[in-house]
Amino acid sequence: MSLSFDNTEVAFRYKNNKQLKQAHFLFSSMSSSTLTKIGIAFTSVALKINLPVEGIIKRTIFEQFCGGETLQEVAATAHMLAQYNVGVALDYGVEGKHGEAEFDKAVPEFIKAIQYAASQKNIPFIPIKITGFARFGLLEKLHAQTPLTPEETKEYDRVKDRIDAICSVANDHQLMILVDAEESWIQKPVDDLTDAMMEQYNKGKVTVFNTFQLYCHDRLEFLKKSHEKAKAKGFILGAKLVRGAYMEKERNRAMEMGYLSPIQANKEATDKDYNAAVHYCLHHHQDIATFIGTHNEDSCLIAADILKQQGLPNNTDKVYFAQLFGMSDNMTFNLANEGYHASKYLPYGPVKDVIPYLMRRAQENTSVKGQTGRELSLIKREMQRRKS
Ligand SMILES: Cc1cc2nc3c(=O)[nH]c(=O)nc-3n(C[C@H](O)[C@H](O)[C@H](O)COP(=O)(O)OP(=O)(O)OC[C@H]3O[C@@H](n4cnc5c(N)ncnc54)[C@H](O)[C@@H]3O)c2cc1C
Repeated sequence: MSLSFDNTEVAFRYKNNKQLKQAHFLFSSMSSSTLTKIGIAFTSVALKINLPVEGIIKRTIFEQFCGGETLQEVAATAHMLAQYNVGVALDYGVEGKHGEAEFDKAVPEFIKAIQYAASQKNIPFIPIKITGFARFGLLEKLHAQTPLTPEETKEYDRVKDRIDAICSVANDHQLMILVDAEESWIQKPVDDLTDAMMEQYNKGKVTVFNTFQLYCHDRLEFLKKSHEKAKAKGFILGAKLVRGAYMEKERNRAMEMGYLSPIQANKEATDKDYNAAVHYCLHHHQDIATFIGTHNEDSCLIAADILKQQGLPNNTDKVYFAQLFGMSDNMTFNLANEGYHASKYLPYGPVKDVIPYLMRRAQENTSVKGQTGRELSLIKREMQRRKS
């Protein structure tokens, strides 16, 4: 039978009627961009002036998109996903921490998560953001190839040590590190650091993945170059493929600063490069491990077709699919049901520290035509199915 994402019974088995209703309420509210804008503005003011809004955030948007505040809390969500053969990318979603002390503190936090993940059968991935371990200004300077001061060189050495400490523990525990992609104007040092880690730890198996944002017009070419480099140096390329999450920010900065936007001219061009990247990686599965991070059904169906053409089993360890927790359950749970490696990016952390992540989810879910429309119609269909 060919893969289909239409089965809402499989998609929402894990939600009881009350939880389904809550999800319906949340996505309906987010479908109004005015309401969402007001909500985002209100939340940031409320947190600044210490209004007690954390409880309501936790019971609504946090519950939909996050696994819990602590490792103990997220464990229950991970166990639930395990029942449906859904894997987890355990994402310590704390963002916006600055300073050397905070960067140092993040390392043991991640190592604790790796050790916990290693004790579970369905948590093979740990995502990391380099900005959780390095000053943004330092990364900008490195990207622009501005010479560092001696102090900054030492600072960069400490960043490399932090990333290496995490990759090394992950490698010892047979876990995989996904290095997220962020803004294009810090991407070069992120690529360089990740390449160095892949060269060290991806010999014969994959431990580290770099992320390729195919909404940038140069990334398909960069993916091919990364593959050539990996082949020349004898390591496996870990390629996490995403479209990209910072489109407006990228376009606005390019316009304000008067340079050519790195973003593709339109959605069709992004889709074309994304699918070409899927094609390229899967046709080179001997030396590329691919992580398909998308809510786009066509891209996943294309990948499933190529696997079949290549004679690879659905559960090949060359290809992983993933969606964000709280979104596109119809894809994750149906993929898992058909035996593919399907995972959820599952963020956890104190409510106030995962707010930037939650605000990005709210923003990307505002368009009725886009993701919210898809989520709402699936939820409505399942509510209807349960009634009849
Ligand atoms: C598991 C997972 C991990 C992720 N990790 C990262 C990460 O590390 N870094 C990161 O940046 N993002 C990451 N994302 C988010 C991702 O980049 C997308 O923003 C999000 O998934 C929506 O794209 P899509 O492929 O799911 O679906 P679709 O709905 O098909 O595509 C929407 C995307 O298409 C692109 N797009 C939309 N309109 C246009 C236009 N007019 N012109 C050009 N392009 C356009 C944008 O990238 C937009 O986000 C991740 C997503 C998932 C599911």
